[in-house]
Amino acid sequence: MAGKRDYYEVLGVTRGATGSEIKRAFRSLARKHHPDKNPDDPESEKRFKEVQEAYAVLTNPEERRKYDTFGHEQPGGSPFGPSGFQGVNISIDDLFGGGFESIFSQIFSGGRSTRRSKGRDLLLNQEVPFQAVMDGYEDDIEIDVLKSCEKCYGSGSESADGVRECPTCDGRGRIQRIEKAGFFTKQVVTDCSSCGGEGRIVSDPCSSCEGQGRARQAKQVQFTVPPGVTTGTRLRMRGHGEAARGNRGESGDLYIQIEVEEHPWFERDGPDLLMALPVGFVDLVLGTQIEIPHIDGSDLSIKVPAGSNPGETLNIPGRGLPGGRGRRGRGSVTVLLKLDMPRKVPRSLKKTLEGMREEIGTDIDSIQDLIISEANNRRRP
Ligand SMILES: [Zn+2]
Ligand SMILES: [Zn+2]
Repeated sequence: MAGKRDYYEVLGVTRGATGSEIKRAFRSLARKHHPDKNPDDPESEKRFKEVQEAYAVLTNPEERRKYDTFGHEQPGGSPFGPSGFQGVNISIDDLFGGGFESIFSQIFSGGRSTRRSKGRDLLLNQEVPFQAVMDGYEDDIEIDVLKSCEKCYGSGSESADGVRECPTCDGRGRIQRIEKAGFFTKQVVTDCSSCGGEGRIVSDPCSSCEGQGRARQAKQVQFTVPPGVTTGTRLRMRGHGEAARGNRGESGDLYIQIEVEEHPWFERDGPDLLMALPVGFVDLVLGTQIEIPHIDGSDLSIKVPAGSNPGETLNIPGRGLPGGRGRRGRGSVTVLLKLDMPRKVPRSLKKTLEGMREEIGTDIDSIQDLIISEANNRRRP
């Protein structure tokens, strides 16, 4: 870029010029050098393009700041891509009436440049232990991701001058052609096949990435899971996706989709935990207290009252999971009582049980009343 003129000099404004000063200067210079006013004058055409480029950069706050810092030698090359500024087709009318501003504001933000500027997003599934829901979780994963080639800085070229503008599409990456459809003609735009829509051709490909500008590299990514996390949660890791092609934009994002591993005995219902507890007949009759290890570090103490029935539930509030995402407090643990019936009864015990049948067994004479009362209990809303 030797001999490239300073943008402020091109527009004839000071470095501190305001937006409206820049606009005024551009308007008058663009009118003066417009190709319609200077037919077949290559010098004017060059000047027309030059003032457009200066205007495009100096009216974009971010690009102006970069230019003020680095001048024309920006890291990552020209903000317009490897083939530089392509010129904008604006009419003389636009320059008088206005309406050219929107064309320029799209240069860095819209149209073709963004279509290709961001690298692809990636999605990865990651299992986390159940304990993560209680405590949160932090881990490293290694991913294989397309990163900008370190040898050629993403250009794909072995040497600095090994990249040239595609002659087929003049660096635009797209081809316009006119198609006839009956009496009408229409304009069709397609990706250039010579350069694959890249707008440039690498004549001396980088030996490390074979001219791709990107290569798969292992990358360590650290992620953090908040307490209360649920299966299906996606963590967004900004900029950890694939690098943009040709190093011309930001990298994509990495999404880590969380799958929470199952707990050996708990089922989860939001912040609540459900479990089944097998209890012997005698424990149901006489009541008991059972201690089991719990995910919050202190044992869970389950008090089974005397005279409990299988199928009844016990509720232990405040010992469930954190609610997650800004919700305070914890859910509860619900314990479903199951009868753990012994398969074999020793002969000596059978005699005792026969005695129990006499004492507390079901009264066969009133069996019909019992059935009806059970049915009524079941049907009660
Ligand atoms: Zn091309
Ligand atoms: Zn390379």
